[in-house]
Amino acid sequence: MKAKDLKKKLEYQPKSAWEASYESKAVESLCKEYIAFLSQNKTEREAVESVVEVLEKKGFTHGGSSQAFYLTNRKKNVAIVRLGSNDPRNGVKIVMAHVDSPRLDLKQNPLYEDTNIAMLKTHYYGGIKKYQWVTRPLALHGVVILDDGSSVNITIGEDNKDPVLFISDLLPHLSHKAQDDKKIHDAIPGEKLNVVIGSQPFKTDDDLKDKVKLAILQILNKKYKMTEVDFQSAELEVVPAGPAREVGLDRSMIAGYGQDDRICAFTALRAILDAETTADTQIVILVDKEEIGSAGNTGAKSHFLKQVIKEVFIAKEGKADMVAIEDCLYRSHAISSDVNGALDPDWKDVHEEKNAAKFGFGVCMTKFTGARGKSGASDANAEYVGKLRQVLNAHQVSWQTGELGKVDEGGGGTIAMYLAQYGMEIIDMGPALLSMHAPMELSSKIDVWASYQAYKVFLEKF
Ligand code: MN
Ligand code: MN
Repeated sequence: MKAKDLKKKLEYQPKSAWEASYESKAVESLCKEYIAFLSQNKTEREAVESVVEVLEKKGFTHGGSSQAFYLTNRKKNVAIVRLGSNDPRNGVKIVMAHVDSPRLDLKQNPLYEDTNIAMLKTHYYGGIKKYQWVTRPLALHGVVILDDGSSVNITIGEDNKDPVLFISDLLPHLSHKAQDDKKIHDAIPGEKLNVVIGSQPFKTDDDLKDKVKLAILQILNKKYKMTEVDFQSAELEVVPAGPAREVGLDRSMIAGYGQDDRICAFTALRAILDAETTADTQIVILVDKEEIGSAGNTGAKSHFLKQVIKEVFIAKEGKADMVAIEDCLYRSHAISSDVNGALDPDWKDVHEEKNAAKFGFGVCMTKFTGARGKSGASDANAEYVGKLRQVLNAHQVSWQTGELGKVDEGGGGTIAMYLAQYGMEIIDMGPALLSMHAPMELSSKIDVWASYQAYKVFLEKF
């Protein structure tokens, strides 16, 4: 054998997914739908609501009264189930993604007036770089529970006719001492991420304090029937305003807010909708609170998954018991469907090039997560990686492996470890993003396609 051929035979050569075979029309149509999904769903509640809408249209029932059903958990989780003929005690297929993204949450007493400007106090949610959130158009999304118990949805800043919100930053002429010499992390303290919401005082001759705040309260009351105390029973999230967009003259990329992890939520949803019914039961679960450690009764650490498996048994056998549920979880196969950080051409030094995920190189299997000595990681078994590799190759899915950053650089965790504790086989698998966790993140259309295909192949063929 010639050395050239031997090299080709023996050496691993990563290949751009654009150079593999794909159908352009299918990629474009999936990505068009994805851009709309991303633009319309900027909170976990909105994502769950719109997924439920799609499921209803596709004939999924609410609760386990049919072969294809869905369950929700406090409007922030949704589980999509398609029953198979096999005994669930032998395991099911699970794809789990999260629908929460880094953002700024309003505090419970947010509204105040300072220097004749009405402002809202925020507390950031998840890992953000605070300087990225100032001086850009922002929107407010969420829900307010009023005094009488009724609930009001709020969305301000997405319609073209809507006003947007704004966080001010210091002018460069005056920032030398206050900001420029500081570490970037300290340049915008969390307590300065205050959102400008109004500046026009309420018209009155009365000698009142805080007339700008009063004017804003009046607008809120007229529009949403709320009073100031109602902020205390509200969940209002400040997110970047405006839709996701195509990027590049070749339109090969997508910039949008919340792609971590709604890129996986969307592709997993589409995968289970398009997948054929198989002998194994298929489940896609979208969860909340991943960005703050998966805690709480809507995070992956909660027992919602057990409730879902319970429903699977009740739907199939009319009853469920803990032993059956434990057996099912122990023998299941799962994908923690989450994004990785792509090798950034401007910041190659924080990555280790041989092992970093590459943009446009297909869905990325992350065998282990964690940081500095794999601490806190879920580490998939080689046998599981081997089997997935075979199945993906057999169905021409572009895939790669990826590690988040150099060994001593940092790292991160996902929900994989919370599912792994049940004993199931699990691995992280999703597209690699540029500018992950920024107000606008960048994805490659071909990676959206590869992720969709990977989840579909896993549900159908694994
Ligand atoms: Mn994520
Ligand atoms: Mn994240």
